[in-house]
Amino acid sequence: MKFTKEELSKMDFNDPFELEESDEEEDEDEDEEGSEDCCIVCGNIFTNLKIGYNAKEEMFRYECANCDSVYVAKGTQTGVEMILLKGEHRNWPDYLMEKLKFPFDVVITEESDKAFFIDDYDGPRRWNKAKVLDVFYSFKYGVEALIRIGRKKHLHILAWVEVADGNSSNYIEVENYKRWRERHWLSDYVAAVIDAFGKGDDSNDEDDEDE
Ligand SMILES: [Zn+2]
Repeated sequence: MKFTKEELSKMDFNDPFELEESDEEEDEDEDEEGSEDCCIVCGNIFTNLKIGYNAKEEMFRYECANCDSVYVAKGTQTGVEMILLKGEHRNWPDYLMEKLKFPFDVVITEESDKAFFIDDYDGPRRWNKAKVLDVFYSFKYGVEALIRIGRKKHLHILAWVEVADGNSSNYIEVENYKRWRERHWLSDYVAAVIDAFGKGDDSNDEDDEDE
C-alpha cells in the first residue's frame, strides 16, 4: 500500500458506495469460495462492521465494534491488500484458551478422513455429542480441541464442532473463530511448506533428478 498508517488514519472515508453483490454461489459444502467475509481480526459477521469508502482511492475502511479494530482494504491485481490501523492480529489459541468456559458440550460437524479409510475407526463421528475439555495450538490445524465422547478422549479440530448451547458466549466465540478461519487462516504447516518451496527454488534442489 502506498500510504502510511498515519496517512490512512487521516483520510476521509465518507463517500457513498454500493457493496458489490457477491457472485459466489451459495455452496453448502462451505469450501473456501463460499466462505463468508468477516472481520479480519475477530471473525465478526461482515454486516456488523461499520464501513466507509474513499472514492478517489477506491479504498474501504472497516470498523469492528466487537474487537475494536479498524482496517483499510484496497483491491489490487493480486487480491485485496489490508492494513490494520487499530488493534492487532489475534493469537487464536491463546485467545480461545482464555475466553472459552470449559468444559462445554458440542456436536461434531465434520469427521476425519480416517473414519472412511480405517476399518476399526473409533474416533469422533459426525453428529456425535462430545464435551470439549481444553483447546490448544496446532501447527497443522490452527486450534485443536481435547474432547470426550463417553469415556474416551480424542483430539479433534475445533472448527469441526458446533457449540450445543446456541445462547452461550462459547457459541459466539467458536462461530467467530470458524468464520475467521474459513476466510483468513493460513496454517503454520502450509506456511512452512510454502516457505520451503520458495527456498527450494533458490537452492537448486537435487531431488528433481532422481532418475
Ligand atoms: Zn472484529
